[in-house]
Order: sequence, then C-alpha cells, then structure tokens
Amino acid sequence: MEAEEKECLAEKAPAGAGDEGWPENFIAARIRTDLAEGRNGGRVHTRFPPEPNGFLHIGHAKSICLNFGLAEAFGGLCNLRFDDTNPTREEVEYVDSIREDVRWLGFDWGEREFYASDYFEQLYQYAVQLIRDGKAYVCDLSAEQIREYRGTLTEPGRNSPFRERPAAENLDLFARMRAGEFADGSRVLRAKIDMASGNINMRDPVIYRIARVPHHRTGEQWCIYPMYDFAHGLSDAIEGITHSICTLEFQDHRPLYDWFIEQLPVPSRPRQIEFARLNLSYTVMSKRKLLKLVEEGLVEGWDDPRLPTISGLRRRGFTPEAIRSFCDRIGVAKRNSMVDVALLEHAVREDLNRRARRYLAVLRPLKVVIENYPEGQVEELEAINNPEDEGMGRRKVPFARELYIERDDFMEEAPRKFHRLTPGREVRLRYAYFIRCERVAKDDNGEITTLYCTYDPATRGGSAPDGRKVKGTLHWVAASTAVKAEVRLYDRLFTEPDPGAEKDGRPFTDKLNPHSLEVLENCFLEPALAEAAAGCPVQFERLGYFVRDAACGPAGKPVFNRTVTLRDTWARKAARR
Ligand code: ATP
Ligand code: MG
Repeated sequence: MEAEEKECLAEKAPAGAGDEGWPENFIAARIRTDLAEGRNGGRVHTRFPPEPNGFLHIGHAKSICLNFGLAEAFGGLCNLRFDDTNPTREEVEYVDSIREDVRWLGFDWGEREFYASDYFEQLYQYAVQLIRDGKAYVCDLSAEQIREYRGTLTEPGRNSPFRERPAAENLDLFARMRAGEFADGSRVLRAKIDMASGNINMRDPVIYRIARVPHHRTGEQWCIYPMYDFAHGLSDAIEGITHSICTLEFQDHRPLYDWFIEQLPVPSRPRQIEFARLNLSYTVMSKRKLLKLVEEGLVEGWDDPRLPTISGLRRRGFTPEAIRSFCDRIGVAKRNSMVDVALLEHAVREDLNRRARRYLAVLRPLKVVIENYPEGQVEELEAINNPEDEGMGRRKVPFARELYIERDDFMEEAPRKFHRLTPGREVRLRYAYFIRCERVAKDDNGEITTLYCTYDPATRGGSAPDGRKVKGTLHWVAASTAVKAEVRLYDRLFTEPDPGAEKDGRPFTDKLNPHSLEVLENCFLEPALAEAAAGCPVQFERLGYFVRDAACGPAGKPVFNRTVTLRDTWARKAARR
C-alpha cells in the first residue's frame, strides 16, 4: 500500500512538515544545553516506549514525532521499545499494529526494536541486588492491606510487618517466588524506601508480582513480572537512553526512577523530561475508553475511521505528512490543554489540497437527460487533475446524453441567490458545456425523477464564445460509464468537545454522535475512479476528500470513506482572529 500512496499523491510535502527544521521547544533547548555541557559524550538517544495493550492514537503520534524528530534533529538515535511488563493485557496483535503505525508515520528504528521483556533476567538480577543491599523485601500483605498501609496524600503510610525481614530470607523467598512455589498474589517484592514520603510513589512500591500468565514473548518462562515503574526507567538506563521523554503524569514517578538508578550499577543515567499530553476535542484518547468502544461494538474496530487511532486515521485518508505537520504545529508544552480537532483537519486539507487528484463524483444522484445531445454518443472531455499543480496533468472524462448531478444542485422553485440549476436558467457543467433545464419529470409521489435539459454545443470546455456568463458550475457524471460505489460520510464521534471528562456524571458513551456515520449506497463516480488505489486519498470536486477503503461493499462495489469536507473551519476561525 505504501508504494501506491507515493504514486497517487504528488511527492511534495506540505509546508511546515519537516523541511523547515526542528521547531524550537523547551525539550530541544534542554538537549542543546546538555550537549553544550558535554553530557553523555555528545550523544542523543531517545526512545518511543509503548505498552502493547492497545492501538496507537494521535496522542502517541505526538510522542513518536517528538522522540524520533529530536533524535534526527540532533544526529542521534531513537529506539522502539515495547514496555511489555503486563502480560494480562498485552497481545502480539498490538505489537504488530504499533510497528506498522510507527513505520507508516515515516519513522525508522533500524535494528533498535527492543522489549522490556528482553531484560527480564537483568531486571531480576537488579532486584536481587536491591535485596542484598537491604533495599528491597518480600512482603506477604495482601493487595488490599498494602493499600491500607500506604496512607493517603495527607497521612503518612505505615511500615509493613515484613519490612525488616533479613536479606537472606528475602533472597530465599524471592528465588522461590520465581520458581513458582507461591500462589499468585500471595507475596510481592517491594522496594524499601520511605513509608512517610510526601510522594506516594516512594512508599515502598511493589516492584515484582506473581502472575501465572503466559507472556507473548517469554511464554511460560516467568511467573513473576516486574512492575512497569521498576522496568521502565531501568530499561531506559540499560539501553543508554540519554533523554527519557514522557508525559506529565510521570513527573511524580521521576524520583522513584532516579532512586532505582542511584541504587543499581546501571550502564547509563537517563534524564527524564516531561511534556503535556495531547488532548483532542470531540474524541477520547484513553486506551481504556477506546477499548470499551471497540469491545462493546460501538465502533467497527480499532481502525474505525471515526477513531483517533493511527489505523483509523489512515483508513479515513489522513496522511502521515499531515499528521506530522499537525504535531509540529501544536508544539510541546508543560501544561495540559485541549487542541481543536479542526486544526488536525486543517493540516489534512492543506496537504491533500496540494497533492490529491481531483475527480467527479455524485453522491446523491439526480438524472439529467440532455435532449439535444446525440443519442449513443460519448465524447471525451479534458479535465485538470489538480489546479494547484499543473504537473499532475490532465485526464479524459466521458460526457454523454444521460448524466447524474447532485440532487441538491437543483431546485424547482429557487430563491434568487440560488446559482445552481433551476428551470429556465443556465449553468456550467464542469469541463463540459452550459446546460439549461427545460422541464422536470416526477413520480406519483411528486418526487423529481429526471431533469430534461438542453446544452449549447458552442460552450464546449465551459465558456461561451459570445462572452455570456453563468453563475454556477456543477459537477456531474455520465450515466452509462459511471462506476457505482458506496460512500461513507463520517462526522465527529462525539457531540461534546470533551466527552472523556465525564464531569457531569454522564459516561462518555452517552455522548456518542448518532449521526457520526451516514452510508450512501448509490453513488456514481467517473470511470477513472475504478482504478483508485485503496488508501490513496482523492478529491471529489466540490464535495471533499475521500479515500477508497481496502474492503469492498456488496457485489464488489468499491467503498469510499470521506476524509474531510472542503469547509475549513480552522482557517475561517484563524481569519477572524
Ligand atoms: P496506558 O494508560 O496504557 O499507559 P498510554 O496512553 O500512556 O496508556 P503508552 O503505551 O504507555 O500508552 O504510551 C507510550 C508513550 O506515548 C508514552 O511515553 C506516553 O507518555 C506517550 N503518550 C501516550 N498518550 C499520549 C498523548 N495523548 N500525548 C502525548 N503522548 C502520549
Ligand atoms: Mg503509559
């Protein structure tokens, strides 16, 4: 599919995507300072660290662009590392989709695909080291008791009765935990830090748990697994990561990651830098909520074109160039905020306006018969593939006596401002002729079935030699050569800007937009679109950008998804400001 996309869209990247150099931000500034001070021997090494427990979304794209982009800007490297420490929620399907999505976004991790599970033995040895040094202990409290002992934000925690277990006993118990002698949940290994710490993460956090769950990479080799907080920072240190870039919620975990790194003989000391996560209006981004939508069948799957997942956006016709340009434009900040989804759609339009081919398509057809056009004649008219770029060439579009136009391009009794087709008035058919509507045929219900029109043969190509003007230009498709298609019109999945907040007590699923998908089954496309490649966005003139779906509809009918309309609400808002 990648090769097809390159062929169908012109190569030019949109302005602002990549070629203008890395936009300055506080993380880049910090890296520059580190380099100036000679830290890390002049190396810059970042990583994108997903947990393989869901599909990636546009928020992850921000993190991917940041990590890979910074590495590229500073001549460094970026790893793809799966933080696969929780086998109960992880699956190979997620690993595969994550790899595909990062690659599709245009980033290359070379040979540097790593897994926290690659380090399970090393992490185990680190835990043993902590026990030997009296800095970790096996605790027999239940999960509920551990929670009780932990205290609250205002009250200190209490020491576990097992906290002073001698190292030798801890070593023996930990080895037997690994050997599978104890039931799931019966014991854990905890770091011995400070139960009175103002930072709850430092109150003797659990670092290993027993779980007889097969792992997608290590199989049944382990029945104890490291906790994310133990594995994450240490994996960065093992990989020689210089800058561990993560979202703000990990700020309070930083002292813990630093504590592990100080206690252990790790090969490097990463510096953690936090930034605000991306929130996008009219959608949800939490994996838990996305999973709920998928599992409850409220959307068609992880790649439903209404979801903010990378695979959904891809199926919707969003391009990697547009997504990267969007990520550049929103920048990085230290404070959480909400980005208007109209800005993302604007980036998509900007890219596709430059690069997508134009075609004629009629979504809600109304039959037109040109009574003075010879029966059985088909002529080829020349159409421009992209008015923004002459280099994209021209193509032939067949014209004939029977055509379809858009139903709402005709009004029988039209107000004066209606510049489209109405009885007695002339309009231009794009790339073709001026036509005049002479009369209207209706069915028994009074519904218009056919427009009988005449054309002026002297206006071929769309202008009159006598200089007379028409106000409207309509798109059209010749009936006999048309490709029949199903077109899916997508709208926002939610009716409210921040459905996930659930501040009013209503669950986010109550705020689904009942009109987020409209399926039009009887659309007519110009014949060139029979060859349209799946995944390659095009413009249907006057209607918007659309992309062919990989799947076909009933009887092999091609299916097109609407990417975005042509109406740019972001550009309009920006113009008003
Ligand atoms: P989970 O709740 O499962 O941890 P997550 O969204 O944090 O969900 P991860 O797989 O841990 O998912 O995320 C991988 C990386 O992407 C992390 O570094 C995380 O900080 C970053 N990330 C996740 N969501 C966003 C977002 N909305 N904006 C920017 N970065 C994000
Ligand atoms: Mg996470």
